[in-house]
Amino acid sequence: MSAPHYSDFVPPVSDARKRDVSLYQFFAPGGVLSRTHPAYEFRRGQLQMAQAVEQALEENRHLIVEAGTGTGKTLAYLVPVIRSGKRVIISTGTKNLQEQLFHKDIPFLEQALFPHGEDKLKVCYMKGRNNYLCRKKLYDLTDQPVLSGLEEIEHYRAIAAWEKVTNTGDRAELASLPEASALWHKIDARSDTCLGQKCSAWDRCFITEMHRKAMESDIIIVNHHLFFADLSIKQQAEYAPDAGILPEAGAVIFDEGHELEDVAGSYFGVSVSNGRFEELCRDIEVSLQRNHMLSASLSGALKSLRERALFFFALLPQGDGRFAFESRREFMEENGDEFLGLQQALTRLGSELENLPSKPEEVFNFARRTQELQVQLGFLMESEDRNTVFWIERRRGGRDKQNVFLQATPIDVAPILKTCLFDKLECAVLTSATLAVGGSFEYMLQRLGLEHAREAVLPSHFDYENQALFYVPPDLPDPRTPQFAAKAADRIRRLLEITRGRAFVLFTSYAQMNDVYQRLLGELEFPMLLQGDAPKTALLEEFRLTPHAVLFATSSFWQGVDVQGEQLSCVIIDRLPFAVPSDPVVAARVKSIDAEGGNAFFQYQVPAAVITLKQGFGRLIRSLHDRGLLVLLDNRILKKQYGKVFVESLPPYRRTTDLKQVEDFFGCGTCGADTPVRRL
Ligand code: SF4
Repeated sequence: MSAPHYSDFVPPVSDARKRDVSLYQFFAPGGVLSRTHPAYEFRRGQLQMAQAVEQALEENRHLIVEAGTGTGKTLAYLVPVIRSGKRVIISTGTKNLQEQLFHKDIPFLEQALFPHGEDKLKVCYMKGRNNYLCRKKLYDLTDQPVLSGLEEIEHYRAIAAWEKVTNTGDRAELASLPEASALWHKIDARSDTCLGQKCSAWDRCFITEMHRKAMESDIIIVNHHLFFADLSIKQQAEYAPDAGILPEAGAVIFDEGHELEDVAGSYFGVSVSNGRFEELCRDIEVSLQRNHMLSASLSGALKSLRERALFFFALLPQGDGRFAFESRREFMEENGDEFLGLQQALTRLGSELENLPSKPEEVFNFARRTQELQVQLGFLMESEDRNTVFWIERRRGGRDKQNVFLQATPIDVAPILKTCLFDKLECAVLTSATLAVGGSFEYMLQRLGLEHAREAVLPSHFDYENQALFYVPPDLPDPRTPQFAAKAADRIRRLLEITRGRAFVLFTSYAQMNDVYQRLLGELEFPMLLQGDAPKTALLEEFRLTPHAVLFATSSFWQGVDVQGEQLSCVIIDRLPFAVPSDPVVAARVKSIDAEGGNAFFQYQVPAAVITLKQGFGRLIRSLHDRGLLVLLDNRILKKQYGKVFVESLPPYRRTTDLKQVEDFFGCGTCGADTPVRRL
């Protein structure tokens, strides 16, 4: 039987709303938006995008649309979504955007479209399951508290009191609970420990409630992680009716769509860590102790599994960070017995669980987790799947602990996304400020397996030519040479003197960031902030509040960061952001494209770096009134043939290689437009 279409399940939504007003009448001067929005400006790109989205929804077509910062993308898709009368899932890359949609854009549109309360939009905002409290786990803990330390006891009291009054179970309501609370991890609603309909707290479960709410909603706001976690669960369960928590929808809008490949890759892969073994053993122990069922033979099976797992993970190849597990076959030849020993320990635990008399419901869940570990470990060590790269990651945990992850990631997610997602959806809309390379979507469409999509690249609302100057120093050494850091630090110092600080200096590696930061420490007259010295949100807040601050950061600040106004007047990037070629997933993708006769450098590495560079530079101009300097310290953009692809993909910033022009740009006080600028 073929898998059903999403739309087969879509219930008719009450009415198609406000179709008596055309999109033009809504967005154009004098229209609804101009009368209701306090900062209204007519944006041609916004109207064009709304028309394209409406057409895609009406004709059940896929659409890919690049719309730069300032287009007003969210309203451009929300208005057609509301008018479509379909149930639509909106998936975003960041929590900020989810919150903006739910707390700002949708309430605004509700008021604008239905000023007298004629209609009410049914909207649901869903986060990942680990954001919600699991009532069952909390109640179990209440029966037999296993808490360590005063802090955990305090957190427990706060959560237990809050559980009685909260309607959502969303931890965001508990501002006092620290982000890294160890207790929360023990009582959140992650799916691997959930008993589903067999749970005694099912009727009052926050996840059940969220699912019910989503079933009644017209618009469901999620993030890409939740969307793909849900999709992969549905895939594994072959569309069992109660698999996953997202209801079926008539369309899905992917905002910040440039992140889809990475997120999808992580959910369609497999990951087994030493921590997962430990967690399983601990969960079983705690539960069986509580139920007075921990027999000597079960304790023995748990002890054996712990020992076997410890031994097996210690045998895995050594190395730091992420690295390919290329020697799997040799490893298995040498250590096959230890692998079998671990598998047998899992089998033994599985049968011990099976043999328990009158099992409490959670035991079935433990048995499922045990079996899942066995299957996944088998795949990781023995599979010969050609579309999968196998790799290892070591991360430092707390207290000298090392977390070791055995990973398998699809090399090409396109065939998976095509069959599991795009072929089954009637309408998918992909949008972002950074999807096109040199004006074409070829790269993105190919990487994602999206076929037969309509395409649109919309004009920007910003006057980039006058708002931003793009400077590349022609005289700096190649960033791959050892001389680069010292020269780059000198030039950064000079540039910051001109801009009076107020800058992000963004790096492609921690090592380069730390090196340049150390060289400039004590040399700058402006406050210097360094990534890692405080959490990201705190650093950003400090940056906003500290006059002339300079922030040194790496990849996590290249995206989803919004600082408007003069406080951010300069963005400096150290080098063209090619993905690290030794990264196991990148290396496997490169090898696979080359092996098929393609040219991985031009088909994959350059386009991916173009998208990242566009994201990084996108931090500077966030509103019509922003103005400032963009710097790329890597002059390969001028000297190498591939540099042209980057230049042609960037917005039409005014460009220069002359430091004097930079001084003039800041010196003239307005826009520097009178100054002739030497072109790149
Ligand atoms: S249904 Fe699952 S998430 Fe909900 S309370 Fe029960 S175990 Fe927890």
